[in-house]
Amino acid sequence: MVTVQDETRTTAALEAVARVARELLSDEGVITDHARLRTYECDGLAHYRVTPGLVVIPEDTAQTAALVRACAEHGLPFVARGSGTGLSGGSLPHAEGVLIVTSRMRRILDVRREDQRAVVEPGVINLDVTRAAAPHGYYYAPDPSSQQICSIGGNVAENSGGAHCLKYGFTTNHVLGAEFITPQGEVVELGSAAPDSPGYDLVGAVVGSEGTLGIVTKTTVRLVRLPEEVRTILVGFESTDQAGAATSAIIAAGIVPAAIEMMDALAIEAAEAAVHCNYPAGAGAVLVIELDGAAFDVGQEYDEVERLCRENGSFEQRLATDPVDRALIWKGRKSAFAAVGRISPDYIVQDGVIPRTALPEVLKAIAELSSSSGVRVANVFHAGDGNLHPLVLFDDAKEGAGEAAEKVSGAILDLCIKHGGSITGEHGVGVDKAKYMPRMYNDDDLDTMQLVRCAFDPDNISNPGKVFPTPRLCGEVPGRHKGAHPLQEAGLAEVF
Ligand SMILES: Cc1cc2nc3c(=O)[nH]c(=O)nc-3n(C[C@H](O)[C@H](O)[C@H](O)COP(=O)(O)OP(=O)(O)OC[C@H]3O[C@@H](n4cnc5c(N)ncnc54)[C@H](O)[C@@H]3O)c2cc1C
Repeated sequence: MVTVQDETRTTAALEAVARVARELLSDEGVITDHARLRTYECDGLAHYRVTPGLVVIPEDTAQTAALVRACAEHGLPFVARGSGTGLSGGSLPHAEGVLIVTSRMRRILDVRREDQRAVVEPGVINLDVTRAAAPHGYYYAPDPSSQQICSIGGNVAENSGGAHCLKYGFTTNHVLGAEFITPQGEVVELGSAAPDSPGYDLVGAVVGSEGTLGIVTKTTVRLVRLPEEVRTILVGFESTDQAGAATSAIIAAGIVPAAIEMMDALAIEAAEAAVHCNYPAGAGAVLVIELDGAAFDVGQEYDEVERLCRENGSFEQRLATDPVDRALIWKGRKSAFAAVGRISPDYIVQDGVIPRTALPEVLKAIAELSSSSGVRVANVFHAGDGNLHPLVLFDDAKEGAGEAAEKVSGAILDLCIKHGGSITGEHGVGVDKAKYMPRMYNDDDLDTMQLVRCAFDPDNISNPGKVFPTPRLCGEVPGRHKGAHPLQEAGLAEVF
């Protein structure tokens, strides 16, 4: 129960932090007006909405650290926000808290060709890193479909993936170091310029922590050499089974394409309606396969991929003839989420992972779920990684349709867990999937994760309420009270 005293205390604390912010920032950097605060009430998952208590938009590390210190001093929760494209409600604000937006921290501080790395501020847009590195012959490999708008800080916090992560790895494989603000407002350096620094991998802990450990204010990222040759192939199949089998055959042959993306008939229909991408007519599934590397290797791999697709039932294969054609093939895939709006008024973008070999079985089970519930599901996903993005379609104007879609959506995640996968591949847990965490982890697992969070944030002020199903105060002893650990009983360990 929130008492009048609580409310008064929160209002006073918000005013105190706003005063600090006004001393530090220009007028545009402090938002208290209700109508303007509402601009920040959600991320890409728009059905969760909370108007933040205060929005601040710092321009550098020192300002960000001072604002975090002010929050800590007044016991106010804070939430970091990059571009707000997250799909799990990760940057959903707190009504009694401060939203710290990084959109003015957009400097690319260094591009070091000789070290193959760049140092960037958190608000830098993903694609801008590649734009800055390209004149040096390099690019930034993790490429979420939102790469034209999402921020590097958001990518780090979500450990974002993308089409090319099959060959090059996720964000975590490209972050070498970070400047980081602890929830107490201390500025620390994580990682080092040299690879493999000793001690705990704190960069690894922060990447994917969804803003619950503190705020990243600078990131040193790895740059990858632009390949000598790229070939993009669009392959049509009659069914997702055939496309899935072709994917497995390609990987089993020892070929790791830069990307293998799959779309089913419904996703193709949506993409055609939206961007006229000229995908094979009548296809039950398409694969977009991209090969890159040295020209000789790409040539050999191309012949092999072409053969394997044919052997697995492809009826059409089209090699992109020039950069414009290549861009059109990718446009169909990259616009698929938004394109689904053409065939359904509402939809849930689901994100789960399964072992690649389970693709045919899981896709069949999703089709059965869809036909038994009457809820349409379009599938578009990173087939090479087994990272599914079922788009669960519904019309919110129809009574019960939203609940039916939620049910199918949850059942798909259960399928992922049952097949040895995970409830999220790249969009994070945020507020949306916290309730699913106990389906994947037992109490001990969750307690252990909370211990890590509490080590960084004992006062639970950095993006509280996200990721974990039940918030725990850090002073509490975690775990069910089970008595002595077997190691204690055996006299092999003591509790300090
Ligand atoms: C059309 C579309 C396509 C997408 N495609 C992909 C895809 O292919 N792959 C993929 O992985 N994702 C995808 N996404 C999801 C989203 O773009 C990514 O999760 C992205 O990394 C979010 O970045 P952002 O800057 O928008 O972060 P936000 O949404 O602002 O924040 C995301 C999380 O990061 C935290 N955060 C933000 N900045 C910082 C910081 N500096 N320090 C600490 N924590 C911080 C926030 O608190 C929040 O928990 C897509 C989204 C859309 C709308």
